[in-house]
Amino acid sequence: MKIVRVALDVPLEESFDFRVPEEADPAIGSLVVVPFGRQRKVGVVVARAARSAVPVERLKAIERVVDDVPPLAERDLDLFGFCAAYYQRPLGEVIAASLPPRLRQASRRPIPPLAAAPVPVDAASAPPALTAAQERALEACRAGREGFHPVLLHGVTGSGKTEVYLRLIADTLERGRQALFLVPEIGLTPQLEGQVRGRFPGAQVASAHSHMGAGERAQAWLAAQSGAARIVLGTRLAVLMPFHDLGLVIADEEHDPSYKQQEGLRYSARDVAVRRAQRLGIPIVLGSATPSLESYANARDGRYTLAELPERAVPGAAMPAVRTIDTRADRPREGLSDALVRALAQRRALGEQALVFVNRRGFSPVLFCRACAWHSTCGRCAANLVLHMKAHELRCHHCGHRERVPAACPSCGAAELAPVGQGTQRVEEALRAALPDARIARVDRDSTARKGSLAGVLDGFRAGEVDVLVGTQMLAKGHDYPRLTLVGVLDSDSALFSADFRAAERLHAQLVQVSGRAGRGERPGEVLIQTDFPAHPLYAAVASHDYARFAAEALAERRVAGFPPFAHLALLRAEAKKAGEPQAFLREAARIARGLKARVEVFDPVAAPLERKAGYERAQLLVRSASRAALQPFLREWRARLAARAGRSVRWSLDVDPQEV
Ligand code: ADP
Ligand code: ZN
Ligand code: ZN
Repeated sequence: MKIVRVALDVPLEESFDFRVPEEADPAIGSLVVVPFGRQRKVGVVVARAARSAVPVERLKAIERVVDDVPPLAERDLDLFGFCAAYYQRPLGEVIAASLPPRLRQASRRPIPPLAAAPVPVDAASAPPALTAAQERALEACRAGREGFHPVLLHGVTGSGKTEVYLRLIADTLERGRQALFLVPEIGLTPQLEGQVRGRFPGAQVASAHSHMGAGERAQAWLAAQSGAARIVLGTRLAVLMPFHDLGLVIADEEHDPSYKQQEGLRYSARDVAVRRAQRLGIPIVLGSATPSLESYANARDGRYTLAELPERAVPGAAMPAVRTIDTRADRPREGLSDALVRALAQRRALGEQALVFVNRRGFSPVLFCRACAWHSTCGRCAANLVLHMKAHELRCHHCGHRERVPAACPSCGAAELAPVGQGTQRVEEALRAALPDARIARVDRDSTARKGSLAGVLDGFRAGEVDVLVGTQMLAKGHDYPRLTLVGVLDSDSALFSADFRAAERLHAQLVQVSGRAGRGERPGEVLIQTDFPAHPLYAAVASHDYARFAAEALAERRVAGFPPFAHLALLRAEAKKAGEPQAFLREAARIARGLKARVEVFDPVAAPLERKAGYERAQLLVRSASRAALQPFLREWRARLAARAGRSVRWSLDVDPQEV
């Protein structure tokens, strides 16, 4: 009898044994449809077995081999195996994270091949002559034509990193190999897609991100696997796609937190990309104006090659002048200081554009009763409900709960309910009042929930149909607007005092990135940061454009505190409906962890930053080790013990290299 082991996306460690019908002979890596309980599931054959622990009469047969998807190659299975082991998740879950939803369906229609997309006419252009700095950076990247060669491309905003990537892609295509170009959020880079297609009109370019149609995503996946797609441009999920012959990986904006998946398989696409390149023996370029401290330390210590672009590429474009507005003296009204309003009016008069950046980590507007201090909170989460004025609703940003805005205070009946805190909507309205003749548009999760609406607003801005764009961190990413000369920053102070050890790094990156939007053309740019702490070193670091100094200081602090990259972390999260249960589970987990006697420090359980979410109480337990080699086997053992012990009422998961602790 033929028996195969099949990895399935079920929350259990093991793969499952199935009988193979006489006439079938699935190769390792084949997709198969199997019966599973009352369902049918798509799994992947990971091994052949001589016998099974399951008695023959109970062994079910695979239903069929999926014949329109070629088997996964050994190198792809190797990557999935690595991810499963590293992130402490079942192999089937990793494979499911790679497979687009359509290919996970037990019955579906055949998938037609990806059609070549027409090249946008305006984008087809000859490459510019490289600047001397680009020339040097390119040489540093090319030094590793053969073999694993990780490069950190640290280039200030507007320094022309994209041009360096495009040249490297050209090299790769010339050698007949495929290139993977990762970006944090593809919805924000329609320009990039046009640029890539325009530069390589003869090459099939496949996009891969979660906002695509199910059919398109399956097509892109198959095109990457067969090698038909020469370039794959995608978000983090693209790092798990199969490739026929991958020859180059680029991760742009490598510092961006969206590279880390925050649920299920909590992988970092940037880190997986590096491991993938290492396992394949190919070059990888990580690019950023504000590299993550992890990557920067790797470059500083010689594990990565450091390539730098210290100046803007466009002749005459200088870095913007960054200044603070002391909001202790110039008190903002509705979020706006007089100095900022004056500056906005001036730019408007000159026919230049401005961007007002509202830090999401600042306050969202909460409905508040002046009479009794009641404020709007979510009944299911330990969080405030946020006022959405246009929809006339209160919404929970954590569980999605919505309710109508009450006419009077639910607690004391007073009619005097007023919003506190600045959301983008309130700032937008305040701007309309302060600059009545300016054309103002807003970009945030609400205003751009509809597919394509973000691109629409940004195109309008680029076309000069908008004078002032208001928005959240979505604006901080790599857009290029030559007429944008002023950036105003509101509400960034709260992040200065966050308990999260990465808060300063994040805020610095965000401010540098958003500042980087200003003055990319010939007109000089200016950045005005409203703050109660104008002397804070973090703002001084942004103003000095001295990333190296900021990084050196931040790394010194990390070393003293024992945080990454000088230590490795994992977080055990637990949640349960019943109060006290997550904490009790974590106390037991801590006891088990300490009993394992590994070179791992076990902290005490604490409440999660959001203590209650959608009716679940949440807590977490941090473990830390100076040694990755000690941490990984410890995690494996710990997870096995926890799995054996946990009751059904507590949901728990491990987060290896957590982003937020
Ligand atoms: P980054 O990604 O480093 O922020 P971009 O790649 O967006 O920067 O480039 C910034 C601007 O510089 C773009 O408008 C780009 O067209 C321009 N640019 C890039 N390289 C050159 C070059 N060699 N000569 C002239 N302009 C360039
Ligand atoms: Zn009240
Ligand atoms: Zn809620």
